[in-house]
Amino acid sequence: MLLRMSNLFLRTLREDPADAEVPSHKLLVRGGYVRRAAPGVYSWLPLGKIVLENVARVVREEMDGIGGQEVLLPALLPREYYEATGRWDDYGDTLFRLQDRKGADYLLGPTHEELFTLLVKGEYSSYKDFPVILYQIQEKFRDEARPRAGVLRGREFHMKDSYSFDIDDEGLQAAYDAHRAAYVRVFERLGLEYVIVSATSGAMGGSASEEFLAVAPTGEDTFVRSTESDYAANVEAVTTPAPAARPIEGLPEAVVHHTPGTATIQTLVDFLNAAGLGRDFVEADTLKNVLVKTRAPGSDEWELLAVGLPGDREVDFKRLEAALEPAEVALLDESDFAANPFLVKGYIGPRALLDNKVRYLVDPRVVTGTAWVTGADRDQHHVIDLVAGRDFTPDGTIDVAEVRDGDPSPDGKGTLYTARGIEIGHIFQLGRKYTDAFQVDALGSDGKPKRITMGSYGIGVSRAVASVVEQSHDDKGIVWPREIAPADVHVVGTGKGDQIEEALRVAGELRDQGLRVLVDDRKGVSPGVKFTDAELLGVPTSVIIGRGLKDGLVELRDRATGEREEVALGDIVERTVAACRG
Ligand code: ATP
Ligand code: MG
Repeated sequence: MLLRMSNLFLRTLREDPADAEVPSHKLLVRGGYVRRAAPGVYSWLPLGKIVLENVARVVREEMDGIGGQEVLLPALLPREYYEATGRWDDYGDTLFRLQDRKGADYLLGPTHEELFTLLVKGEYSSYKDFPVILYQIQEKFRDEARPRAGVLRGREFHMKDSYSFDIDDEGLQAAYDAHRAAYVRVFERLGLEYVIVSATSGAMGGSASEEFLAVAPTGEDTFVRSTESDYAANVEAVTTPAPAARPIEGLPEAVVHHTPGTATIQTLVDFLNAAGLGRDFVEADTLKNVLVKTRAPGSDEWELLAVGLPGDREVDFKRLEAALEPAEVALLDESDFAANPFLVKGYIGPRALLDNKVRYLVDPRVVTGTAWVTGADRDQHHVIDLVAGRDFTPDGTIDVAEVRDGDPSPDGKGTLYTARGIEIGHIFQLGRKYTDAFQVDALGSDGKPKRITMGSYGIGVSRAVASVVEQSHDDKGIVWPREIAPADVHVVGTGKGDQIEEALRVAGELRDQGLRVLVDDRKGVSPGVKFTDAELLGVPTSVIIGRGLKDGLVELRDRATGEREEVALGDIVERTVAACRG
């Protein structure tokens, strides 16, 4: 490959695009890698296309490495398939829907479980046909609510999606593990710093679904990690270690106090500390009872649920939703309070909840033998020293309190802190959701039909390009890892003499050595502009052929380290090849 900048379809920009907030958006546009066509819709120009294909090649090699077979399915899909699985409606506004000239409904594929399932159903029928892994690298369409950050969140974007089909759960686990290992290799090769977080809640348990997050302050996903270990998790999946139960004997009796005007935790603590009770109270000594209502899937009955947690913590609604999935959860409204007069707002305690058969779940920190200040179920009254396991016994625990920086890491090593990441990959044990919908069976060795089980696995190929830039840039431009760089070496000819001809000659030799070469052979462009462009474009190695040429010297530069070295012209090809093959 030899690309000449004198005729390359490339225009770099000095100014950041007005709509760009994150580095990758700014730099990919300024570097002439992509151009915006519509909100969340981008064109890939020559250098961008090369980088995109390089990422796709890495993904392809690793998918082939686990026995995946590449196919290409249409993006234009008939409604009926998505109707059969409920996703025509479930996808809501995110789905691009359209009609053909006869008025038949179609959609632009956001992900392809339906068609892959039908494809396999059409071709395979015996247990001997399985397992199989199919994948494609294709444009996907989602009408994202907030397309942002250039190609990081597009409405049209490139995804590798693969699907595994197996006879049994062990097969699915093996396909999942193989994908996980392949993803690790892909993201290592892309030079990304990433974490793997469990995508299901701690309550649902296990690794039925995991996300790969590229660590970046601009990421939309938050996760927590440990100061001491490589523990990382979605906030939804963090488990709170429960302290050991404590002895109940000798604890003081629970006493109800008149506590006027103490409907909030802070007013309560202030009141208690001013009341001269002979000890100090903090928010964490109080037990706050938060009421919500839940509804099982398919039911239209809401049921009350009370969550008891230390008063210094809020309920994290996302953790609550994850813990209660697949049930729905909502806050109470005035009519719910009116219908349940035993709920005395600001003064709700365990007693009334349990007496009235409200399901009552507590934070894991509320263990037997802990004593609490909590509501006495009477307006303006609280009870002090209400002891778990003695004065009340909750229906169970629920781990939905907010996770805070400094909380102990669940693996016992270090404390947690919050970080941000970009979801670059997602692996998912689907099970039989789609094969049930389309009744995909294979005849087992015993002659009986067996329902096939599936996994689905995605990598955001275009998003990975932007994620690499998020992690690998400086104030001058992009710093590409060699594996996906648009070229191995950028040869820059500067000056008015024979430097440009010499640059073309060296570039040709480097190309003949098998390197991918970009050469700046533009005439009438100042050296300053050429250097600025080279740094913006971010090719890992550059060779500068300039004023030193008359003395037989050229310069070898490393984009990542900034190192520069004068090299004799006669040695430059060998030295450059060595630098690029490192
Ligand atoms: P997100 O939570 O970021 O919207 P998702 O969980 O909806 O992503 P998946 O359905 O898991 O995405 O898709 C598989 C992969 O495709 C994601 O891990 C991500 O890398 C990529 N991806 C998803 N949506 C987009 C998008 N709008 N633009 C670019 N890449 C995307
Ligand atoms: Mg996902």
